Amino acid sequence: MSLAARFSCLHDHDPEALSVDQARRFIHSQLRPVRAYERLALRSALGRVLARDVVAPFNVPAHDNSAMDGYAVRHAELSTRGATRLRVVGTVLAGQTFAGKPGVGQCVRIMTGALPPAGTDTVVIQEVVHVDGDSVLIPAGQRPGQNIRLAGEDLAAGQPALAAGRLIRPAELGLLASLGCAEVSVHRRLRVAFFSTGDELCSIGTPLADGEVYDSNRYTLFGMLARIGCEMLDLGVVRDDPGSLEAAFREAAAAADVVITSGGVSVGEADFVKGLMAQLGEVLFWKIAMKPGRPMAFGRIGGAAAADADGHSAWLFGLPGNPVAVMATFYQFVRDALYLLMGAQPLPGVPLLPAVCTVAIRKSTGRTEFQRGVLARVDGEWCVRPVGVQGSGILRSMSDANCFIVLEHDRGPVAAGDSVSVQVFDGLL
Ligand code: AMP
Ligand code: MG
Repeated sequence: MSLAARFSCLHDHDPEALSVDQARRFIHSQLRPVRAYERLALRSALGRVLARDVVAPFNVPAHDNSAMDGYAVRHAELSTRGATRLRVVGTVLAGQTFAGKPGVGQCVRIMTGALPPAGTDTVVIQEVVHVDGDSVLIPAGQRPGQNIRLAGEDLAAGQPALAAGRLIRPAELGLLASLGCAEVSVHRRLRVAFFSTGDELCSIGTPLADGEVYDSNRYTLFGMLARIGCEMLDLGVVRDDPGSLEAAFREAAAAADVVITSGGVSVGEADFVKGLMAQLGEVLFWKIAMKPGRPMAFGRIGGAAAADADGHSAWLFGLPGNPVAVMATFYQFVRDALYLLMGAQPLPGVPLLPAVCTVAIRKSTGRTEFQRGVLARVDGEWCVRPVGVQGSGILRSMSDANCFIVLEHDRGPVAAGDSVSVQVFDGLL
């Protein structure tokens, strides 16, 4: 079935006014992870997606061990009424085992990470213990088993420690190392080709002629793709002429899993891009009910669906030309799509968090808006306000902002003091 037919099966509504959620759902329904894997040394796997479940080959930690510096004791020997005097018969350090077994009335000084000596079951932290020569006085009120980390409490032998589809972040690198994994199987990197379209565009390094603007979209795209860890093919600026555009599309589709273009998908008269996309592939042109970023194309370029291409095919995202619209559509549609193709499961979501909007915002129902906002803590409360200028061509609004203020499809105007949802640009990991 063609993409257009699948789309019309799922959506009985007008592609002229698709909601953000409908567009996102349709894109997700079409994509399958790239099925090619490689084994990598652990550090090189940062940012990749696990191809197979990783099962813990042994308990982590492998042995019970002390969580604190203190004294290893037998809990049954401690008095419940007053302090208990015990003789210290040795010390056990992390990485050591204590030879022998402390007898009745004895204890062992123990360091964090060390194995509790035979017969001991509780660690009393050194801060509460009174040292008296070669003895210690242990106060009453110690819990049995306290301050001992149990074997397998982090990861139990035979249990899946990480499932296929898990994105490898710093915590996963450490976790894999704790299992002794020197190499892991991961999905191969996605190959993403991108180019900018427009006769008015000039590449950096060349002086601007009259009427030209520097191409910034290839740089924001580069930055966003680099953060996701894609292999990139930058095909530069392509003139609004059918020959150059066709060559660029063919080169991109032959080399990449995904092709991202900017510009040329609106109704402007010089927009050949749409015609060529339609000719070289199977492409849906959408007017998404969102601001910024209304026009967008999604589909496949090349492959069996396109009789005159070379048999290669790639997913296509034809993003709008306006610089802010490029970033908004990338984050709202392309980012998840790339993670999906990379095999990530679940997708690394970006939470929507509530914040108090300190100023009124004009908004009409029937479209989702992604205003650029500044989120800050004011008097103990997270507050947000839109950055001054919100034009979709004004990239400074993205740079000055630290979040999107997401104004939902059905939402009307926002009054000062209302709660709004924000999507923070930078996460911790
Ligand atoms: P278009 O969608 O091609 O009609 O472009 C919409 C607006 O975005 C126009 O003002 C273009 O000059 C601008 N634009 C398109 N592509 C780029 C780009 N790569 N860098 C900066 N501005 C762009
Ligand atoms: Mg253009």
